[in-house]
Amino acid sequence: MRLVILGGGESGVGTAILGKQKGYEVFVSDFGKIKGNYKEILIINGIAWEEEKHTEDFILNADVVMKSPGIPDKSPIVKKLLEKGIAVISEIEFAAPFTDATIIGITGSNGKTTTTMLTHHLLKSAGLNVGLGGNIGKSFAWQIADNKYDSYVLELSSFQLDGIVDFKPHIAIITNISPDHLDRYDYKYENYIDAKFRITMNQTEDDYLIYDADDEAINEWFKTHTTKAKLIPFSLTKIFSEGAYIKNNKMEIKINREEFTMDTEHIALEGKHNMKNAMAATSVAKLMQIRKATIRESLSNFQGVEHRLEKVLKIQNVQYINDSKATNVNATFFALDSMNTPTVWIVGGVDKGNDYNELMSLVREKVKAIICLGVDNKKIIDVFGNVVDMMIEVSNMDDAVRMAQRLSEKGDTVLLSPACASFDLFENYEDRGNQFKQAVKNL
Ligand code: ADP
Repeated sequence: MRLVILGGGESGVGTAILGKQKGYEVFVSDFGKIKGNYKEILIINGIAWEEEKHTEDFILNADVVMKSPGIPDKSPIVKKLLEKGIAVISEIEFAAPFTDATIIGITGSNGKTTTTMLTHHLLKSAGLNVGLGGNIGKSFAWQIADNKYDSYVLELSSFQLDGIVDFKPHIAIITNISPDHLDRYDYKYENYIDAKFRITMNQTEDDYLIYDADDEAINEWFKTHTTKAKLIPFSLTKIFSEGAYIKNNKMEIKINREEFTMDTEHIALEGKHNMKNAMAATSVAKLMQIRKATIRESLSNFQGVEHRLEKVLKIQNVQYINDSKATNVNATFFALDSMNTPTVWIVGGVDKGNDYNELMSLVREKVKAIICLGVDNKKIIDVFGNVVDMMIEVSNMDDAVRMAQRLSEKGDTVLLSPACASFDLFENYEDRGNQFKQAVKNL
């Protein structure tokens, strides 16, 4: 069997290792450059590869093709493969049949990483032999080749789900759905929603789907579609006989006639959106029969994830918060919503078609000054120019942070939550967040 892998990054190289181990004839092809360390690994393992080209003679003879998530379906080589009827699948589809481990798959527009890390933390603290993968850290396929874990918590993007055929997580989570990546879905929101729901398409009556019951897109989908999985909804406003909800400042979870209750103030993560993430992760922990004491302890000591509402420092009684990962309006909505003090808001970057009006009432209520940190800030200025008293444009992070310090007073918060991608001024959102943290430390 010939396995061709498009893309020589983490998931491509991981799939190559697993494929080779399982007896496939493997070929890796990358239209860009393959990073040095990955190249070395391919060479050491005797795996054939090419870079900066796709040689059709070596690709169109594949029995199966694994496409890395960054490569769009519209790319010419993928189109040719599909025309020839060759299966083009994702890493998780290729890898999952080679393990008996219990799989927990987490998707959604926002909150995937936080929920995945928290779920992993809960299960690991309970002593389970559990791996972490998907979009995070080491490739899932690679970990299966190393055969280390009895269960996996996987962060799954819609792109990975696009490439599944039989993949079935025992427990699935959809954290929420809001418009994102529409350029890859013919600018049709319903295509993107359908892609997210692929996570449940192969689930059976023995499996579970945990989902945000406050989410409009999710509720709409359920009006016209079904799943065989047992449903576990979570909500900030509704109450369920089976599901997770908040009542009298307590998180309550009712699953399989068991109940779990915890004061929200003892949950380390802050903000309403994080209560949702906590409900989703705790529902998994209950399904995996983790002891209540362990769940309580893990929820109270979880440190959060870097660049997601990350508290950096308090300087002269001003709290600086790094939410660089907020690359869309919905993420920033929840960040602003969780602010309890007057806020100096650093926003801007590459806008993927944002509707800033969704933030209007929160900005009126909480934001005292806006610092625009992007190459083109026109849209932000047009929308909020008359709403806040102070608005300033800057073109680097040091200036942004210095300005923020000047505009803030004791008791305020300075929030970096850009609602935009970062690549006009930064390498990526991590670079943006790290520069922010460094600039704050330099104050
Ligand atoms: P993802 O992996 O889906 O991008 P992250 O956990 O990295 O999600 O969070 C991305 C951004 O979304 C951060 O700014 C974070 O504060 C915000 N966020 C986290 N959880 C949620 C949620 N449940 N709903 C909305 N926004 C969220």
